[in-house]
Amino acid sequence: MPRDPLVPHLRELGTTIFAEMSALAAETGSINLGQGFPDTDGPEEIKQIVADAVWHGPNQYPPGIGFAELREAIATHQKRFYGLDVDPDSQVLVTAGATEAVTAALLALVDAGDEVIALEPYYDSYAAAIAMARGRRVPVTLHAPDFRLDVDALRAAVTPRTRLILLNSPHNPTGAVLSEAELQAVAEVAIDHDLLVVTDEVYEHLVYEGRHIPIATLPGMWERTVSISSAGKTFAFTGWKVGWVTGPAELVAAVRTVKQFLTYTNAAPMQPGIARGLGMPDEYYRTLAADLARRRDLLSDGLRSAGFTVFPSAGTYFVSADIRPLGYADGLAFCRELPHRVGVVAIPHVVFYDNVDVGRPLVRFAFCKRDEVLSEAVERLQGLAG
Ligand code: PMP
Ligand code: GLN
Repeated sequence: MPRDPLVPHLRELGTTIFAEMSALAAETGSINLGQGFPDTDGPEEIKQIVADAVWHGPNQYPPGIGFAELREAIATHQKRFYGLDVDPDSQVLVTAGATEAVTAALLALVDAGDEVIALEPYYDSYAAAIAMARGRRVPVTLHAPDFRLDVDALRAAVTPRTRLILLNSPHNPTGAVLSEAELQAVAEVAIDHDLLVVTDEVYEHLVYEGRHIPIATLPGMWERTVSISSAGKTFAFTGWKVGWVTGPAELVAAVRTVKQFLTYTNAAPMQPGIARGLGMPDEYYRTLAADLARRRDLLSDGLRSAGFTVFPSAGTYFVSADIRPLGYADGLAFCRELPHRVGVVAIPHVVFYDNVDVGRPLVRFAFCKRDEVLSEAVERLQGLAG
């Protein structure tokens, strides 16, 4: 059980790994397959709506919960893709990206000393947000090569102090997508122990194998689940930082109470653009996933040819690999050296673990880049073996 609520790597680095690695990429002129952001912007028609909004308004504070137009689009999206009936006025909250949504949800729902079960490796802001809420992280480790959920480990992680399960599927950094059976097991644990679930589903439309099932759709789960998503990945506008929370009115009200003192409100001119985006035809969503699946294959095959052991990725922007076949053992040292050696940046898994030994030899590469960029990165990485 981790005793120190602070994230070891935050203490050590004094920065997030994404900031460190993006700075290193800029400094060395490397190809940045670290921080997950596309190198091509999202749809022009969304940009145009936002440009018009910047020019003609709205540019002043939106309502704290977000403009009705966007909240209605979010509710319609939940019905269209998942059959969920969501009331746009009481069950939706617009946030400054999923990051604020996660932090606000944990600050709202976790008391000092409460335990939060999170799938390890976890997205780095989770550890920080749990620490800010004075909660205690309890990791349940997903192991290579397939990063499946160990349901017995999940059950064993529950104690009388457990308050909530923090889920993430599709999962960053592994690319695992929780199956219906795994989600059912999580639901059973949550219901048996009367736990809340906060679920980060920002990669909901970036699924290449299987399908994304929101845990809120399982019987008995809507009433205990805060679901989080974001426009960043779905529309390739990661810098706009428009996210949202959906769930039962009492839970959304609790998150809103915190959100209003974090940012109060956000992204006035972006909101009409994202409202339009959410209503884009099925073809948009299909093409987005098909295109990324092709890039995943391009990079995965390339990494294999460069000598890495590459793990299958069913979703997200990311593929993970083991560096040991190339003669390395420490992912953090490897990632700090890689830009200087071959001009490529990746992210070490180790910073996402409490059980650091499990993550030490693993690194994550982002494939949300143009084909020629991925091909050039592969060519450079092939130089490692030589
Ligand atoms: N959760 C996960 C799992 C992520 O990978 C990211 C990265 N974008 C976020 C949350 C943050 O999303 P946003 O940029 O919308 O704050
Ligand atoms: N979610 C992205 C990633 O995991 C971006 C992280 C960030 O900017 N903090 O790489």
